[in-house]
Amino acid sequence: MIVAGCDVGSTTGKVVIMDDGNILSHSLVPSRVICEDTAVEAMNNALEGTDLKLEDIEYIVGTGYGRVNIPFARKNITEISCHGMGAFWTSPEIRTVIDIGGQDCKVIKLEPNGKVREFVMNEKCAAGTGRFMEDTALALSLAVEELGPLSLKANSRASVSAQCSVFAETEVISLMAEKRPLEEIVAGINDAVASRLAGMVLRVGMEEQVVLSGGVSKNVGVIRFLQERMKVEFVDVSEKVDPQLMGALGAAIFARQRADKGERRTRRRRSRAENA
Ligand code: ADP
Repeated sequence: MIVAGCDVGSTTGKVVIMDDGNILSHSLVPSRVICEDTAVEAMNNALEGTDLKLEDIEYIVGTGYGRVNIPFARKNITEISCHGMGAFWTSPEIRTVIDIGGQDCKVIKLEPNGKVREFVMNEKCAAGTGRFMEDTALALSLAVEELGPLSLKANSRASVSAQCSVFAETEVISLMAEKRPLEEIVAGINDAVASRLAGMVLRVGMEEQVVLSGGVSKNVGVIRFLQERMKVEFVDVSEKVDPQLMGALGAAIFARQRADKGERRTRRRRSRAENA
C-alpha cells in the first residue's frame, strides 16, 4: 500500500512516500510564501522519478507549520507527534527526540510505543533555531552547511550568547571586528545553540536513547557540542532516513495506520452486509 507524509515547515517542505513500510521516495524543497505551493512542489518532486501519480497514493497525512494548507492531505497531525513517530520507526528504543527546525526547537519525550509523553518547545525567540544559524552564517559569508565542519577545526570557542539571537548577532559582529579566527566564532555559535538545547532537555529530563531531528541536526558541530554537554551518544539514523525528513516520515507512518484502519472498517461493513 502506498502512503505519504507531507511536512510543510517554516523553512522547508518535505515529502516521504512509503510502500509497505519502506521509504520509496522523498523530497526536500525550500518553503515558498504560500504553504500550498510548498506542499505541491514537494509532492511533485517526490513523485518525479517514480512511476506513481498522486492518485496512486492511498492516504496522505500533513504535518508542520503549514499542515492545514496541504490540499491533498486527508488528515493533519502535529509535527510533535510526527517527529516522535518517525523516530520510533527508526528505532523503538528512542525515548527523547530533540528537533531543531527553522523557527523553533522542541524536546519530545516518548512512551515505549512511540506516543508523545511530554514536550517542551522554544518558539518565542529565534536563538538556537535554523533561522538564527542562517542569519549568522550570512553575516560571516558562509553557507549553513559549512558551520558544522568549520567549528570542529577550532582550538577554542568564542563566547556567544545562548539566550538571545539579537545579542548573539551583535557579539558575532564584534568578534569579526576583533579578528577572532572564523572557526572559533563558528564554534561559539554552535556551542551557544548546544547550550540552549541542553537547557531545554534539562527542563523535561533526558531519557536514553536520544536522537536529533530537523535541519540543524545535520550540523556536526552542534551534534558534537551537545553530546559533550549531555554526556550521551545520539542514535545515528542517517542510514535509515535524512533526519530533516523525520516529521514527514512520521506523517507517512500515521497515514499507513489510518489507511489500515479505514480498510478494516470497510471489510467489517462489507462482511456485515453480506451476512445480513
Ligand atoms: P522546518 O521544518 O521548520 O522548515 P527544517 O527542519 O527543515 O525546518 O530545518 C531548516 C534549517 O536547517 C535551516 O534553517 C538550516 O539552518 C538548517 N540546515 C539545513 N541543512 C543543514 C546542514 N546541512 N547543516 C546545517 N544546518 C542545516
